[in-house]
Amino acid sequence: MSLNRRNFLGSGLAASATIGLPRMAFAAEKADVVIIGAGLSGLRSAEILQEQGLKVLVMDANSRVGGRVQTVQTVDGPLDVGASQVGRGYARVIDACQRHGLKLVSEDRDLLPFGSHFSGEWIDGKTWGSNPLNLCEGDERQIPPNLIGQALCSKYNPLQELDDWLDPRFAEYDISLRELLRRKGHSAQAVELAGYSAPGIGIDETSVLRMWQEEVRARIERRMGEAAATAENGPKREHPFGEANDHRDVGGLAAINNIVGGCSALPLAMAAKLGDRVRLGKRAVSIALSDTGGTIACSDGTAFSGRFLICTLPFSMLREVEITGSANPVTRQAITTMPYANTARLYVTIERPFWKEDGLPPSISSDGPMGMFWAVDNHTGEGAHRGMFVLVGRTAQAVSALDRAEAEAMLLGELARLRPASKGAVRVATWKDWLRDPLQRGCGFSLAPGQVNAFARDMIKPWQVMHFAGEHTRRTDFGMESAMESAERAAIEVLERTA
Ligand SMILES: Cc1cc2nc3c(=O)[nH]c(=O)nc-3n(C[C@H](O)[C@H](O)[C@H](O)COP(=O)(O)OP(=O)(O)OC[C@H]3O[C@@H](n4cnc5c(N)ncnc54)[C@H](O)[C@@H]3O)c2cc1C
Repeated sequence: MSLNRRNFLGSGLAASATIGLPRMAFAAEKADVVIIGAGLSGLRSAEILQEQGLKVLVMDANSRVGGRVQTVQTVDGPLDVGASQVGRGYARVIDACQRHGLKLVSEDRDLLPFGSHFSGEWIDGKTWGSNPLNLCEGDERQIPPNLIGQALCSKYNPLQELDDWLDPRFAEYDISLRELLRRKGHSAQAVELAGYSAPGIGIDETSVLRMWQEEVRARIERRMGEAAATAENGPKREHPFGEANDHRDVGGLAAINNIVGGCSALPLAMAAKLGDRVRLGKRAVSIALSDTGGTIACSDGTAFSGRFLICTLPFSMLREVEITGSANPVTRQAITTMPYANTARLYVTIERPFWKEDGLPPSISSDGPMGMFWAVDNHTGEGAHRGMFVLVGRTAQAVSALDRAEAEAMLLGELARLRPASKGAVRVATWKDWLRDPLQRGCGFSLAPGQVNAFARDMIKPWQVMHFAGEHTRRTDFGMESAMESAERAAIEVLERTA
């Protein structure tokens, strides 16, 4: 029997979905589709299914919607401590902003030039080729030390199509960046320096195929920017770290855009449209699956049952949820072993542009515990500059072992050590360590060497009535757009089964 909303609700199957489940303190609340997680992927799949006439329920452990989209109110105004950048090529996010009446503005985050501090010295990128500290060989010698990981990773990327990373033709590249550089004969110093700017968790921890997936997707954004390089608009701006915004208008958008008022405005608007279909403060602790339905038990004794479930929890969180159902070794392996990258960031207000005092470039890329410091240009010419300590990979790992006060003291102290002129010039605005967020435990999914071949292709297949969405289940996109992509796929999967 094909199942749709009408015959499902009358069939008694909804009731049978609860058979054999852990004892609940309350009767399970029912819907056609229960969606676990009110981040962008959960909210978007709910929107689609509700538009198609299904009764949905979205539940989230947090007291707010948005997940990794989080705007914090500070004395200096709203600050996005999670996602903030909307690229020109984000068709789904841009469409969602338009549907919900949200405005996009060109991002006011041009990073002032970067200085590289490596091996205890300031490195001038222009003269790095002849610097005695440069022990790289051949062409490697010309790549600035803070860019070498990204540059060498990109150099060998053979992928053309967005989903090539999953194509078994490229299975041999399911290796670490260190192994790739070893096979290509790179020098010991190039490999060591690559460790500071390798995409993903690090040079040993992330599959090159996972790194290349994002790089292929980023090409789309770059190609859209090329359309802006007209005579009137002027040539493309150069930036050593590739982080400057291209504010020229292509289809009404700059290269990087922000949602006015903060990125959280988007999930808030999506949730408002769903109205009473969103339940907050509901932490899933177990999921019981059968072929006819699924039930989620929450830590507060409440429960939700649906003919179908869509699970959007990052696997860093889903591994804490007990799942009972049919055997599913591939997905179980993915849930329990998929590594997550982290980023920790200290956001500051720069009250005095200290770079005018010491003459060094305002932003810093270092091989020390501070990682990177991004001074953010205020190109309106008014008010204070902003700054961000950006810790990723090994520096993020080290800072996560500290509490907030220790982390702040270490980072500000390190900045003052490298740049004495910065003393008293920066004021802390806010701090976020995504590894320490108890509902995330990391900032984004990764795949270790060997895991693309082991499970990435198949892990998103439905588990009985449970479908998977979330950025970690992407096939072609990245960032917020990948959460939206995954939501569409999961919603369509469910609609095909209810047709
Ligand atoms: C620091 C940072 C910067 C970023 N910058 C950008 C950017 O500039 N541009 C961009 O496009 N993308 C960016 N991203 C990526 C983007 O934020 C994510 O890809 C996207 O928001 C993920 O959405 P999601 O729905 O897959 O997951 P999430 O938003 O993580 O949603 C999962 C939800 O599950 C909930 N949950 C967890 N455990 C449970 C449980 N047991 N029971 C119930 N609910 C639970 C969580 O509370 C959360 O709301 C950034 C991410 C981070 C962390």
